[in-house]
Amino acid sequence: MTTLLASWRDPGKVAIEAAWAAREEGASLVASLEQGLAAAELDPNLVAIGLGALPNADGELELDASIMDGCDLSAGAVCGLRGIVPAISVARRVMEATPHLMIAGEQARRFAISQGFHPRNLMTAESVRRYDEWLKMPAEAERRYVHSTEESHDTVTVLGLESERHVAAASSTSGLAWKMPGRVGDSPIIGAGIYADDEIGAAGATGWGEELWKAMASFRTVEFMRQGMGAQAACEATVRHMLRRQPHSRDMACVAFALRADGDFGAATTHAEFPLWICRDGSFELRVFEALKS
Ligand code: ASP
Repeated sequence: MTTLLASWRDPGKVAIEAAWAAREEGASLVASLEQGLAAAELDPNLVAIGLGALPNADGELELDASIMDGCDLSAGAVCGLRGIVPAISVARRVMEATPHLMIAGEQARRFAISQGFHPRNLMTAESVRRYDEWLKMPAEAERRYVHSTEESHDTVTVLGLESERHVAAASSTSGLAWKMPGRVGDSPIIGAGIYADDEIGAAGATGWGEELWKAMASFRTVEFMRQGMGAQAACEATVRHMLRRQPHSRDMACVAFALRADGDFGAATTHAEFPLWICRDGSFELRVFEALKS
């Protein structure tokens, strides 16, 4: 039995379907998650991640990605990667081809090129159009846009479980839309954006990266499960902790979701709604989680 979870409605659908297709062709769990995110990154019609995503305040795409294998806690990540997709595949190379955990910025790009990736312009006509539109927005409209639309959540996080209690997690993002150049969020940070440990399960985060990182949301959720909580209770405990300790976390979605090594899963968000895709051996379901009332 393989269980896959993927965050957000449109990009999550592309990622989970591609991850399952890879799985059916015999890919390992880690490779399936990578291929799922790679498909979403390479789809120019998705403004969520990779090619054609929403850029930073300078109109440039800076990508962050991470991947973790629950069997031995090995992990790899890139941040501030420019002009290379899929960023998740570069993160996997960091995990498998170097003794390191994360490579940043220009050196991540150099590393990717040394591994056979080809630089390209990631802005599409549509992402240039949206950037130009954003430049013209008055400050108040811009704030509302960034804080309320699903489109401003430029991340897909995926979790996977296969029989014999093996879990993995991966995340890819262009970060918050219109972010300050050089800003890095939670997604490439092991313990913040993703965490996977076969002893317990996997967790992922998406939404406001600064708040999720301060909370170490993914590691915290896995640790709640380690204490014996079910996946839903663990996600809610993380979100309640954030609501209590980080009052700003209610201003924008901060999401934790989790997949326990026994197949139990759950999700919770501080704000608005969170759509989560679930695939169990090829049967797909979209579940929408409402914000927790604290
Ligand atoms: N967490 C990501 C970041 O802050 C954004 C998102 O999940 O939408 O970079």
